[in-house]
Amino acid sequence: MAKMIESVASRAATPFKNTPYTDFTRPENRQAQMEALDQVKRELGQTYPLIIGRNKITNEATFASRNPSQPDQVVGYFSSATVQQADEAVQAAAAAFETWKRVPAEERAGYLFAAADLMQERRFEFNAWMIYEVGKSWPEADGDTAEAIDFLEFYAREMMRLAENQPLVKIAGEENHLVYIPLGVGAVISPWNFPAAIMVGMTSAAFVSGNTVVLKPASTSPMIAWQFMRILEDVGLPSGVVNFLTGSGSTIGDALIENPQVRFIAFTGSRDVGLRINELAAKSRKGQRWLKRTILEMGGKDAVVVDETADVDAAAEGIVASAFGFQGQKCSAGSRAIIVEKVYNQVLQKVIEKTKKLSVGDATKPETYMGPVVDENAMKKITDYIEIGKKEGHLVAGGGHHGPGYFIEPTVFADVAPHARIAQEEIFGPVLTVIKANDFDDALHIANDTEYGLTGSLYSKDEKRIERAKQEYHVGNLYFNRKCTGALVGVHPFGGFNMSGTDSKAGGKDYLLLFTQAKAISAKRS
Ligand code: NDP
Repeated sequence: MAKMIESVASRAATPFKNTPYTDFTRPENRQAQMEALDQVKRELGQTYPLIIGRNKITNEATFASRNPSQPDQVVGYFSSATVQQADEAVQAAAAAFETWKRVPAEERAGYLFAAADLMQERRFEFNAWMIYEVGKSWPEADGDTAEAIDFLEFYAREMMRLAENQPLVKIAGEENHLVYIPLGVGAVISPWNFPAAIMVGMTSAAFVSGNTVVLKPASTSPMIAWQFMRILEDVGLPSGVVNFLTGSGSTIGDALIENPQVRFIAFTGSRDVGLRINELAAKSRKGQRWLKRTILEMGGKDAVVVDETADVDAAAEGIVASAFGFQGQKCSAGSRAIIVEKVYNQVLQKVIEKTKKLSVGDATKPETYMGPVVDENAMKKITDYIEIGKKEGHLVAGGGHHGPGYFIEPTVFADVAPHARIAQEEIFGPVLTVIKANDFDDALHIANDTEYGLTGSLYSKDEKRIERAKQEYHVGNLYFNRKCTGALVGVHPFGGFNMSGTDSKAGGKDYLLLFTQAKAISAKRS
């Protein structure tokens, strides 16, 4: 153990660096990804258990995770946990907390470094599972895996930093210390759209801080969470520290949130579910000894603003990349383009041309830019919004969809009013709403005029406007002259304002504080 701790300390002392993306133009990488897809294909369709403490339990009631490119292909069957099993998972986490909270920070960080190494080793396999399970294109899947590795590397170092002696003002006659201690049992409820990065990020932040976890992944992406559980088992994480509970959020969600032994909830997902969790968690239950902490990251209706001084080619490129990467299913997706009148037609034409060139198809194919949307519900919701859009604006690109996979063309609506439904509601699909603004002031006003505040971008060469946007563009992640997606761990700490959530700034130096509480210890010295 001493040796392990020493090596953790020296690794933590090396500066954090983002994991490079895989270059799929290189034949060896293409080959490796192809082979991993083949290997994963042979493993599709198996049944996976819940993990509660030491026990792996397969229920009779299961649900299927399907490949959205080919919905008749089952990625895996997962157990539908019951409310009683949710309580048992919390019990198992509470029992494990009694020992895990005493494990030194170096040792806890060591598990994250070991998991990062294994995930890097299994990188193509991880990508392949994501390509099959949620329809990510190769580069999008690879970016998601890279981000998951980054979170492990970043939070391991962060825990080591928090475990250091914290500077306090000195006074005579007393010795004072401040230590960050864990909270207790956390429910981690993750979404499907970054099924590796966000699930790994929230879970690892929770347990590296000394907490124990019940992990409830989204029902459309349980396999990626299972693959992470395999890694945690392979690196020897003690049982009970992370419990794996699959099943419908609407069935087991309330039981997890209301359980008086749960100390905190880390959630990323939609606005409505986030609000419900916030409300339920605020109520104290019998036997509950604390205020539950909630870390809630929710939706967005993010904008790319373009003024008349902007490089119009770069702006059109940024608008298209922000709107259609991973089929527009990113909380950071630029689903609104707000363009000032003087360059509106010019930018719009370029956006239409670029959009029409995007390829849509089976995500397993390396040439695919846009795969399917995640499932039938998403397909229905998005195509309903396309019908609404036909009444609220001019359809200038896309609009169609085809099966048997859930394929929707990248769709652009022009001349939409700022308060139209498709300009205000999160569609979470490949639908871009283009809005004409009179001038920069009007554009900035429209950008801020939604209930969300997650990401935003401005294309402009006017330094004064850039300075104004820094003050007035009310979003958690603001970008200039670049797309509004693609936040990097450590570089762009991520989280939004208003109905986009609690602004937890994942991948930043404030994040682990949310999973800890500070204890001040003072001793009188004679
Ligand atoms: P959902 O809110 O539908 O689901 C998120 C998670 O909550 C899933 O695990 C889901 O389980 C669970 N859940 C559903 N109902 C309940 C409930 N009543 N109680 C407790 N848990 C519940 O979101 P999506 O998975 O569809 O993710 C997309 C959303 O996430 C978008 O709105 C997007 O903007 C947002 N998001 C925000 C990010 C941010 O950082 N701000 C980042 C990424 C996504 P089940 O799958 O079983 O229903």
